[in-house]
Amino acid sequence: MSDQDRLFRLRQAHGELDGAALLAAMRTEFPGRLAVVSSFGAEAAVLLALVAEVDRTLPVIFLDTGELFDETLAYQAELTAFLGLGAVRTVRPDPEDRRRAEELWRTDVDACCHLRKVLPLQRAQVGFEALVDGRKRFHGGGREDLQTIDADRDGLIKISPLARWGQAEIDAAFAIRNLPRHPLVAEGYRSIGCWPCSRPTAPDEPVRAGRWAGSAKSECGIHETGKTA
Ligand code: SF4
Repeated sequence: MSDQDRLFRLRQAHGELDGAALLAAMRTEFPGRLAVVSSFGAEAAVLLALVAEVDRTLPVIFLDTGELFDETLAYQAELTAFLGLGAVRTVRPDPEDRRRAEELWRTDVDACCHLRKVLPLQRAQVGFEALVDGRKRFHGGGREDLQTIDADRDGLIKISPLARWGQAEIDAAFAIRNLPRHPLVAEGYRSIGCWPCSRPTAPDEPVRAGRWAGSAKSECGIHETGKTA
């Protein structure tokens, strides 16, 4: 079956599903070949809570770029324990790439993200056929047309169980499950990545306005989709 046929079949079979139901279906479609990618950022607890409800042993890939907030590293440990996640894999840049990326965020954010995020994830995703992420349409910035099931240019399936969820559903999921919040949310951060490239946002700004603020960049490059979409 071609990559395009496989994507078509998956959308036909599961395109109406969201949240935990979609996660459970993908776990059945890709036994042992499904992984989750999480930044342990502002809203990550919602997707990870659904993962814990479906299967605590699903691999969760956490990209530690070397430029994360200390609060994110602490929250990763706190949330992992709170949810009982059993297979969080912390993935870091290759030491030589990290040396090359030293303060590169000052001069070339695309190259910095490539060395600190894209290449480590490319290595970490070997052996998996589908990756789950927490992207949502309401975050805007090019995510308005996000599909719950997509594929990248190499045929890797991308699953976004929260794509159609809104802010009210995210807030309700936090409240119902009493999920811990990332400590920087209280300081106005609504989307949290590396410290040099994240700032708090005002309530009337788009959620991701604080990422690479002042530049045209809106994505780090790990969520690219394409050829078969
Ligand atoms: S978000 Fe900023 S610091 Fe982090 S990898 Fe990208 S450019 Fe570098």
